[in-house]
Amino acid sequence: MSSLVENIQVEPRKGPKYLFFDVEVTRIVDATPTVKLFDLRVPGREAYNFQAGQFIQIDFPINAKVTRRSYSIASAPDSGNSFQLCVGRVPDGLATRYLFEDVKVGSILKGSDAIGRFVLPDVVEKETCFISTGVGIAPFRSMLMDGYARGTIKAPVSLFFGNRYESDILYREDFEKMRHDHGLHFYPVLSRQQDWHGPQGHVHVHYTKFFADKRPCTFFLCGWRAMLDDARHHLTEMGYDRKDVKIELYD
Ligand SMILES: Cc1cc2nc3c(=O)[nH]c(=O)nc-3n(C[C@H](O)[C@H](O)[C@H](O)COP(=O)(O)OP(=O)(O)OC[C@H]3O[C@@H](n4cnc5c(N)ncnc54)[C@H](O)[C@@H]3O)c2cc1C
Repeated sequence: MSSLVENIQVEPRKGPKYLFFDVEVTRIVDATPTVKLFDLRVPGREAYNFQAGQFIQIDFPINAKVTRRSYSIASAPDSGNSFQLCVGRVPDGLATRYLFEDVKVGSILKGSDAIGRFVLPDVVEKETCFISTGVGIAPFRSMLMDGYARGTIKAPVSLFFGNRYESDILYREDFEKMRHDHGLHFYPVLSRQQDWHGPQGHVHVHYTKFFADKRPCTFFLCGWRAMLDDARHHLTEMGYDRKDVKIELYD
C-alpha cells in the first residue's frame, strides 16, 4: 500500500550538503529508558540561530553510506549558543547506538546550522492543533515555549501527545505549566496504561472527537511515517484540506 505521506517534501539524509562545525555535548539526561535529552553548545559562537520547529543535521562517525541524521531542536530559541535535542533509541540504529553508547558529556559532534520550514506563523491567529507521539514532540515543545514566551500565540492551541505509558510522557511538566499559565489544551493519550484517568487508546480517537465539528484549524503533525499516515488519513476523511495539515516526517 502506498504511503499517504510519501510525496511530502522533507529534508532528510540526502539533499544539499551543509557546512558542519563542532558542537559540544554539555549535558545528557535519561528522560525514559529509551529517550535521552542532549544539551549541546556551539563553542566559539555567541549564538546558534534557529526558528522554533527547525532541525539540525549531525554527521556521525559511523560506518554507513549516509552518515548524516536530522534531529528537531526541542528547546526554544534564545540569544545563546546552546540548545536541546530529544533522541529516541532505534533498535539496531547506527547513529542512535553511537549517541547512546559512545557520546559523553564533553564529546564533540559535527553539527549543521538549523534547517527546515516546519515553523509557526509569526503570529498564530488561527486555531492550531499539534499531534505527535514519542520524540515527535520535540519541535512542538520548541514552538510552544517560544510562542508563549513571546506572546505570539493569539488563538486556542491543543496538543495531542500519544504514548504507551505515563512514564513515557516527555516534557510533561512543561506542558502542564503551559496548560496552567496559557490555557494550552494538553491531552496526553496513553495506549497501554490501565490505571490512567486521562484519555486512553490511540491518539487519533481523541483529536477526531475534539474537532468533530470540523471547525477551522491548522494541524501540525510530527513523527514516524505510520502515525503520520494515519493522522493524515483521519484529517482528510474529516474534510480538512491538505493546506491545513503541516507535516514533519522522521524518516
Ligand atoms: C526532519 C527530521 C527530524 C528528526 N528529528 C528527530 C528527533 O528529534 N528525535 C529523534 O529521535 N529522531 C529524529 N529523527 C530521526 C533521525 O534522523 C534518525 O532517523 C533516527 O535517529 C534513527 O537513526 P539511526 O542511525 O539510529 O537508525 P538507522 O541506522 O538509520 O536505522 C536502522 C533501521 O531502523 C529503521 N528505523 C529508523 N527509525 C526507526 C523507527 N523510529 N522505528 C522503527 N524503525 C526505524 C531504519 O529504516 C533502518 O532500517 C528526525 C528525522 C528527520 C528527517
